[in-house]
Amino acid sequence: MQTDLLPPPADGRVRVMLTLPFAGPLDYLVPPALATARPGDIVTVPLGRRTETGVIWDATSSLPPEFMPPPQKEVPASRLKPVAARLDLPPLPAQLRQFVDWVAAYTLSPPGMVLAMALRANALAAPPRPASGWVAASPLPTGLRLTPPRQKVLDAVSASPLSTGDLARQARVSTAVIRGLAQAGALNAVEITPPPPFATPDPAHCPPQLGGEQAQVAAELRARVTEDAFSITLLEGVTGSGKTEIYMEAIAACLDAGRQALVLLPEIALSAQWTGRFGRRFGAEPALWHSELGSRLRRLTWRAVADGTARVVVGARSALFLPFDQLGLIIVDEEHETAFKQEDGVTYHARDMAVVRARMSRAPVILVSATPSLESLANVGAGRYRHLRLTARHGNATMPEVQTLDMRADPPERGLFLSPVLTGAINDAIGRGEQAMLFLNRRGYAPLTLCRTCGHRMQCPNCTAWLVEHRARHILTCHHCGYDEPIPQTCPKCADTDSLTPIGPGVERITEEARATFPDARILVMASDTLNGPAATAAAVERISRREVDLVIGTQIVAKGWHFAHLTLVGIVDADLGLGGGDLRASERTVQLLHQVAGRAGRAEAPGRVLLQSYVPDHPVMQALVSGDFASFMQQEAEQRRPGFWPPYGRLAALIVSADTPDAADMTARALGQNAPQLDGVQVLGPAPAPLAILRGRHRHRLLLRARRNIAVQPIVREWLSRVRPERGARIDVDIDPVSF
Ligand code: ADP
Ligand code: ZN
Repeated sequence: MQTDLLPPPADGRVRVMLTLPFAGPLDYLVPPALATARPGDIVTVPLGRRTETGVIWDATSSLPPEFMPPPQKEVPASRLKPVAARLDLPPLPAQLRQFVDWVAAYTLSPPGMVLAMALRANALAAPPRPASGWVAASPLPTGLRLTPPRQKVLDAVSASPLSTGDLARQARVSTAVIRGLAQAGALNAVEITPPPPFATPDPAHCPPQLGGEQAQVAAELRARVTEDAFSITLLEGVTGSGKTEIYMEAIAACLDAGRQALVLLPEIALSAQWTGRFGRRFGAEPALWHSELGSRLRRLTWRAVADGTARVVVGARSALFLPFDQLGLIIVDEEHETAFKQEDGVTYHARDMAVVRARMSRAPVILVSATPSLESLANVGAGRYRHLRLTARHGNATMPEVQTLDMRADPPERGLFLSPVLTGAINDAIGRGEQAMLFLNRRGYAPLTLCRTCGHRMQCPNCTAWLVEHRARHILTCHHCGYDEPIPQTCPKCADTDSLTPIGPGVERITEEARATFPDARILVMASDTLNGPAATAAAVERISRREVDLVIGTQIVAKGWHFAHLTLVGIVDADLGLGGGDLRASERTVQLLHQVAGRAGRAEAPGRVLLQSYVPDHPVMQALVSGDFASFMQQEAEQRRPGFWPPYGRLAALIVSADTPDAADMTARALGQNAPQLDGVQVLGPAPAPLAILRGRHRHRLLLRARRNIAVQPIVREWLSRVRPERGARIDVDIDPVSF
């Protein structure tokens, strides 16, 4: 662990990083009363007429030279203001400060905006005040008048103090009775020590019996954790092979070593099932961290991570910015998921930044997936990552049989979307008392509404996108900006009535068809817009596990790592859906997503079956899903990307120009094009209309900078941006390592 004993500079200046979009920390003076202030201390400082919160930053940067931001002008000491106060909070650990600097430099974001993620949302406010509760005085005051309600209260008080409200409820009396007893000296107020919210997990609580290859892989992972050094391991294993079971053994080793562990999940909806499972293994729940955490719990958690009482944290990508002081292991589950990429504000990839964080903590990182990203496989190929594999499902479970249904040869009836073979298979599964699942990665009723008379398509007024019908909510809505309008009765263009027709299916429409086709089936819809929040998701999952559901219909939320023991049939309504759009990564992503969905089938005794409805059953993606041979598929993907130095064989940065007028967007994009860097091994593609040419009313162009792997793109992009001034109303956003290209 690093110590923070850097004294403030001799002239009494300190650098304070504010959570504002400045290029770096600002200089302040240290007043004599704060002479002991150290880097990491959280302080308030004056800024103009306001008071801002910030962190005393290190005097020197730990960044590699190519990442170093340009030096800032020094302000003369006479113009500096003093630091106002130091807050009574645990200091931000040196590793976290270093990480903030690193993420900012890598993503070309203002470091203050990265720091804002580390200090997020009132993590800093005062700690919740301890409540007080009542215990009986002993002995009771002599001459106490004992009415029946008072007796009830005295019967209800116990050794552990109860709050006024709780005591009144338990005794079934009014709070006045309690106040009266207290005044009479029969009750004493004591401070309630809240139950420790972060109980210590016990590595020996309930370890699993590991089979042959499982035991071997677990031993390898334990060895990584105990060697107390930075390392990267890719844990690849088919769905249901026990990856989760096994990485929990790595967590056990980390706990044994007295260090903290961090587990990143791509989707917070998964956390309920995950924490339950963790609790059964370790006898205590982990700390949770995500954007929906209440503010009280957020403060408690932040502190518990800082002071080490939270031993294991499971969370979304933002958990990387928690103030761990003894981080001994990071696990990134479902590492291939694009949800790990934050797309707005600071655009960072949590998987990649997890590797950086682990390196700074000299800790191992384990990337886990059934279908690893091409990035991780390439890193394995280049010898940078270790590779551990689980090849078989646990116990008697076998991999599901995957089959394509050629929709050209066996089409559904007119106006329907499920082919007879698929509906037959669902009927059979339900008839056997098993569960089935239909997957379609599209919310709403229909993705397009078209006028049969004039051909008009209902479009978003703010985006280059069609409006999606959500029939249950009686609206057409844009999935990009949230715009909505009532479903019109007449065509807005030709005014014909009853001519507007929904084209194509969303889950709502599939549900409608399923209800008509399987009238007796108990159907549950799992879509991100019908399940609001982790609790609703957990309840849905619970119902499936209790076999209160015959047919699950869902969007990508059903693809996640759920374990449904009685689910034997998975039907993919439109396996071709992700393949359009001209994104080089489309095939890789489709395989990962569909394999993940397919992996929900047959996870226990009964064998599983997966049916893919496709118009291109010979496509390499369908072939890979049928054969299960992902290694060859990924090999082919690699061969396509290698020659052009596309990621992961080269580096990529996207510059998105957006403006409120087409002209401003155009001119700024052209200026970027004209000033494009001319360097060996670097190429600029574009400007071209961005994938969403208009988004939220802003006109967008994109330029891609592609470079050989050994070239750092950050200084090049920084220099490039310094030569171009955006037009009025225009903005340039940088996305290092964009996930689509
Ligand atoms: P994955 O993460 O690879 O999909 P899981 O870890 O979820 O696999 O394991 C699949 C199922 O098999 C889970 O119900 C898990 O509890 C069970 N399982 C896996 N390995 C073991 C084991 N060694 N002992 C008992 N149950 C196991
Ligand atoms: Zn829109």
